Amino acid sequence: TPKNYDVVVVGSGGAGLAAAIQAHDEGARVLIVEKMPTFGGNTIKASAGMNAAETRFQRVKGIQDSKELFYQETLKGGQNRNNPELLRCFVEHAPQAIEWLANRGIMLNDITTTGGMSIDRTHRPKDGSAVGCYLISGLVRNVTKRGIDVMLDTSVEEILCEQGKVSAVRLINDENETLTIAVKSVIVATGGFSANSEMVVKYRPDLDGFVTTNHKGATGAGIALLEHIGAGTVDMGEIQIHPTVEQNTSYLISESIRGGGAILVNQQGNRFFNEMETRDKVSAQIIALPEHYAYIVFDEHVRAKNKAADEYIARGFVTSASSPRQLAEKLGMDYHAFLATLERYNGFVEQQHDSDFGRTTALRNPINEGPFHAIRIAPGVHHTMGGVTINTETAVLNKAQQVIPGAFAAGEVAGGIHGSNRIGGNAVADIIIFGSLAGHHAANWAKAQA
Ligand code: ADP
Repeated sequence: TPKNYDVVVVGSGGAGLAAAIQAHDEGARVLIVEKMPTFGGNTIKASAGMNAAETRFQRVKGIQDSKELFYQETLKGGQNRNNPELLRCFVEHAPQAIEWLANRGIMLNDITTTGGMSIDRTHRPKDGSAVGCYLISGLVRNVTKRGIDVMLDTSVEEILCEQGKVSAVRLINDENETLTIAVKSVIVATGGFSANSEMVVKYRPDLDGFVTTNHKGATGAGIALLEHIGAGTVDMGEIQIHPTVEQNTSYLISESIRGGGAILVNQQGNRFFNEMETRDKVSAQIIALPEHYAYIVFDEHVRAKNKAADEYIARGFVTSASSPRQLAEKLGMDYHAFLATLERYNGFVEQQHDSDFGRTTALRNPINEGPFHAIRIAPGVHHTMGGVTINTETAVLNKAQQVIPGAFAAGEVAGGIHGSNRIGGNAVADIIIFGSLAGHHAANWAKAQA
């Protein structure tokens, strides 16, 4: 390994890999450092897709959308707490980011929806496979093809500055060897802190005891790294719980199952809320149920269109039955109530109008094709909206909102974009948009230092 680089990228999730590829393509000498033994971070677990408005793939499908509507719905979903400049930048760059991926052989040309969005704008792979695996394997293919240097099982322990500029990083590998590498810039793309229960509870005592959907590496270490060189933070208490998590395994049940037409019912066999509301609201309703859990219910029609559903069946999460009555009995549910719920919901699909809970999206098909399926779920800690402060050029800002020269951050480690609640499909958009921007700005910064 050379002892100096233009750009060191910390973390190999979607944000880090996109940043590394972009910086390399602009002529920078790039090193990726990943503390875990494998690539992909939490991104590899992403299941819904990537939101963007006014894309080529929407046009092909005849979907009318606008950046302005995407902006307004994300702001509403975030309870108006989103940083408006970052959100503008996000929405503006989203269709380019879809093309950025397409140009690198990563095609997200099937489209669905998630809670809080009124239009199909969640882009995902055509074969129905989970977006995270598909994205990471495509990005890693691009990294390998370019011969970008990578160190796995190696953690960045400290960012060093000289005369107020980033000058080096100190690394430690799994054999406890330390190494200091001179750098012109660093891009911190270390993800969130959902898997650090101590840190979660410090900011949100009410989340004590909740499971998390995140991989072990989501510890928030990158926030500490940047705070050490003066970075400010924002929205640290804004922590998302995802409504549909299988509790024995902490496995996330993708929002794309509801987006494909599934409903939520309680132990009494009744629907209780608009399933396509934002994650914060759906989670709150489940927690408020007497048993604090619910069931996702879907039929063969939904299963056939979603590879994830087959995975849930293989993992043993799914109770299936040939008739709704049998399903209700297997779940210990009053079948009269359950049959009435299905009949009523199917009527709403036919009228395209839900007079009970006002669901307006993903009223796709009546639930009437056996076998019928159910997964028992409850909320789990899923995403940390807060993080270090950045500007629209992904430069890290100190507590006085001034740029820390040479320090960039992108992805879940950065705060402000999602406000109080991140919309499903906006994390993948975030990491590709701000990851590639970070690569661009860090490469430019490095050039200017030469
Ligand atoms: P994002 O979605 O923002 O790209 P991910 O969670 O997908 O974030 O990826 C972040 C990656 O950063 C993870 O693979 C994690 O193991 C890695 N990481 C976290 N802290 C460090 C560190 N100090 N040094 C190296 N890698 C780190």
